[in-house]
Amino acid sequence: MKRSVDYEYYKAVDDSRWFFRQGVYVVLELKETLDVDVAIIGAGPAGLTAGYQLIKAGKSVAIIERDPVYVGGISRTVEHEGYRFDIGGHRFFSKSQAVVDLWNEILPDDFIQRPRMSRIYYEGKFYSYPLRAFEALGNLGILRSTACMASYLWRRAFPIREVKSFEDWTTNQFGEKLYTIFFKTYTEKVWGMPCNEMSADWAAQRIKGLSLMGAVVDGLKRSLGFNKRPNDGQAVKTLLETFRYPRLGPGMMWDAARDNIVASGKGVVLMNHALDRLASDGQGGWSMAANGPEGTVQIRAAHAISSAPMRELANRLHPQPATTLEASKLRYRDFLTVALMIDSEDLFPDNWIYIHDSKVKVGRVQNFRSWSPEMVPDPKVACVGLEYFCFEGDGLWSAPDEELVALAKREMEILGLVDPTKVVGGAVVRQEKAYPVYDEDYATNVAAMRHELEERFPTLHLVGRNGMHRYNNQDHAMMTAMLTAENILAGKRVYDTWCVNEDAEYHESGDEGAEAGLPAREAAETRPLSDDQIAALTSLRGVPERIAANSEAKPSPRKSA
Ligand SMILES: Cc1cc2nc3c(=O)[nH]c(=O)nc-3n(C[C@H](O)[C@H](O)[C@H](O)COP(=O)(O)OP(=O)(O)OC[C@H]3O[C@@H](n4cnc5c(N)ncnc54)[C@H](O)[C@@H]3O)c2cc1C
Repeated sequence: MKRSVDYEYYKAVDDSRWFFRQGVYVVLELKETLDVDVAIIGAGPAGLTAGYQLIKAGKSVAIIERDPVYVGGISRTVEHEGYRFDIGGHRFFSKSQAVVDLWNEILPDDFIQRPRMSRIYYEGKFYSYPLRAFEALGNLGILRSTACMASYLWRRAFPIREVKSFEDWTTNQFGEKLYTIFFKTYTEKVWGMPCNEMSADWAAQRIKGLSLMGAVVDGLKRSLGFNKRPNDGQAVKTLLETFRYPRLGPGMMWDAARDNIVASGKGVVLMNHALDRLASDGQGGWSMAANGPEGTVQIRAAHAISSAPMRELANRLHPQPATTLEASKLRYRDFLTVALMIDSEDLFPDNWIYIHDSKVKVGRVQNFRSWSPEMVPDPKVACVGLEYFCFEGDGLWSAPDEELVALAKREMEILGLVDPTKVVGGAVVRQEKAYPVYDEDYATNVAAMRHELEERFPTLHLVGRNGMHRYNNQDHAMMTAMLTAENILAGKRVYDTWCVNEDAEYHESGDEGAEAGLPAREAAETRPLSDDQIAALTSLRGVPERIAANSEAKPSPRKSA
């Protein structure tokens, strides 16, 4: 490896040359075609994990990444004038010891342990999250609490008999008033669909364990001195839980993974290169074309791994899959963060707060310093990220950055959280395809494409979140990549990377890296997953299924958290 003052050269695969400047790897000279063992689409957690594991096993890889600057995908850390933004806030938690070990291996010295705290903000008051009913009623004041209790009692006496939607279920459980205040607005902001069109089973999973009557009785006993136990455990758990976090944000993990891959001399990461075409060579191998600033790069490989959205991959595969139509029906929900720098102390101690207020569009506000003090360079300045859920191309998504910063300032003023004259800076980060949408047909569409690809192209491997159209966390995305690397090394599909227990509950409860696994779903010739692999694969976060409005159909039996 040669070094110079301004930049570093990395001797990479096939003698290509790279230089590193301002955090970006760019090709200096590149032979027309790169020959590697594995070509990988996407330098997010899944693509980089696959690359990292394969390099360790002696394979050569070439990773193409569309983003010109950042690796890490949704889990990148965006930097703006020394301020660092995490898209959505990434806790590093996994029930899989293998994933935890890999995190520690890639980033041995830079994890910090952070307290986890998040509350709901509604009309100037903070409420515990998950909600504690007695505290909620206390905060709402006597008149509104009475109305809430009356509407609750009414619904207990006259419940909705045929419970189909999220709205039906939650109204039955808490009454109309509490449902409207604490559930309707935020849920609709996130999912972009009315609560009366979301499946009831999702509500049942999501909000389970919270009994209004139980909490009120407990609260009364407590105020009368009959119950001296330290709370019901909920607040203690919520406020004192901690999580691990790279001190410079989640992107620090993925920068380190990229550096390791490149420094090995067996891997290249082509930034600013988007997939143009992935063509089968007819003999089990692949020829990948990626468009970059200097033109098109060709990569030849025995295997291809894709973490690109399935919909996009289908359009760029050659020969074109027969299931391209199904893939084209997959949909996504997008997301943007407006960061505001404020000449003030931190506005609240939480990592983030949920905004349950229909007067504003913002859904959540991140408090970047609470994630890590090093995310905010100036101790006199607070930095928050207002999160807006949207669809690519809609009014919010397409609005110019200045308008979005102005909107964020206005909304923080409406909420009473910030004096707009104290805002000293702003920046916007857009995240397309943040959430794969689970609509009525998504599972059929995903299965159709998956089965066709598995049958026709055994050396093409789908990994990660949008790569498999699964609403999962980093650890799951990584585990799919780790298993894929093992399949490639074994020369056959020894692990079924789609082996995910649909009933699994996403909850960061249980010990990190220590939960016992569920029984593996074994295919005839596949190797059973270890407990630990299953633990990662099953840390799924559930999403609501859409039910047709006024549908007579029973809600889907599929459970999710
Ligand atoms: C709001 C929010 C909060 C989250 N919070 C957490 C959390 O607390 N903890 C946690 O563990 N996980 C969390 N996640 C999930 C986590 O972000 C994902 O699981 C993880 O980023 C998925 O990794 P991936 O590599 O599969 O996909 P991505 O992160 O989407 O990366 C894919 C990469 O591929 C690139 N790419 C796509 N198409 C192409 C193409 N055609 N050509 C070239 N490159 C391409 C993209 O630019 C991207 O860099 C959260 C997600 C969201 C949206």
